[in-house]
Formats: sequence, C-alpha cells, structure tokens
Amino acid sequence: MSLIKRALKTWLLLELLRGMALTGKYLFKKKITVEYPEERTPLSPRFRGLHALRRYENGEERCIACKLCEVVCPALAILIESEERDDGTRRTTRYDIDMSKCIFCGFCQEACPVDAIVETQEFEYATETRANLYYTKDMLLDVGKRYESQIAANIAVDVPRKG
Ligand code: SF4
Ligand code: SF4
Repeated sequence: MSLIKRALKTWLLLELLRGMALTGKYLFKKKITVEYPEERTPLSPRFRGLHALRRYENGEERCIACKLCEVVCPALAILIESEERDDGTRRTTRYDIDMSKCIFCGFCQEACPVDAIVETQEFEYATETRANLYYTKDMLLDVGKRYESQIAANIAVDVPRKG
C-alpha cells in the first residue's frame, strides 16, 4: 500500500469508523448472551451430567451388581464390590465413581440393563478438591433420590436410547 493511501486511511480514521459501524450493526440486534446463573438454556434429556444410582418405587436398589458398567467404563472410573444376599439376589456393597477420571461418555448408562446408573442433568458440582469428586454409593443414591422425577421423565422421552 502506498504511503499516501496509508496516510489518508490514518488521517480519515477509516479503520475506527469501520469498527464503530460493526459495533452499531450489533447494538440493536437481539442479544444472545445468557446471564448465567439467573438465566439458563434448556438442556437435552440426553445431557450427561452428574451420575446417580436409582431405586425402585418400593425402595429396593435397582443395581444388581452385574458390573457391566464397571467393565465398559473406558476411564476405569467405577469400582464395584458385591455380595449375595440371603434371598439369593446380588447387590453391591461398594459402588464408587471417581468423577475426576470420568469422561462422561455415558457408556455405563448405556450398558446398565436395569437403568440403575444414569447421568443426570446436574452440572453444578464444582469443588475445590479431587477428594470431593470421589462419589461413593451413598452419595450416588442420594443424587438419585434428589433427581428421580427428572431422571424418569428424561428416560421416558428418550426411549430410542436403549432401542
Ligand atoms: S460416563 Fe463413561 S467414563 Fe464416566 S463412569 Fe460412565 S462409562 Fe465411565
Ligand atoms: S449399575 Fe447397572 S450395569 Fe452397573 S453393576 Fe449395577 S446393574 Fe450392572
């Protein structure tokens, strides 16, 4: 670019005006910024957030300790121990998920034959230590209790998931 052209551009503040025009163009357009946490965007029923362990309506744990979720987990984030009960059924004595390892792939949920382990739409569980991201069976059951109605509704609209 010639020296004169550059001098003219600078003197006439052309680049500044072009920038102002761009700002003006968007000034009156519909705003797309969401002011989280006061405002929230809708979440898909398939959203993969914090895990939960579920119970049946009669309070019985759904999990039958088949360990499919543990085997399929690519991050080795799930740790299960189990025992046989007096009535011959099997239940977990330990079910831990290390959320700091989890990559939220959803494989555990897909593998579970009884919809016991699921991922909720909860994503606000940030913490200051890794230890707090280690979820035990009681913690996961507690998450399930808190979100059961939301989980059941999401599974109902997402039937092809297991199709
Ligand atoms: S979502 Fe994926 S990585 Fe996380 S626990 Fe389940 S299978 Fe493992
Ligand atoms: S959560 Fe589901 S897949 Fe995992 S051990 Fe229990 S029943 Fe099996």
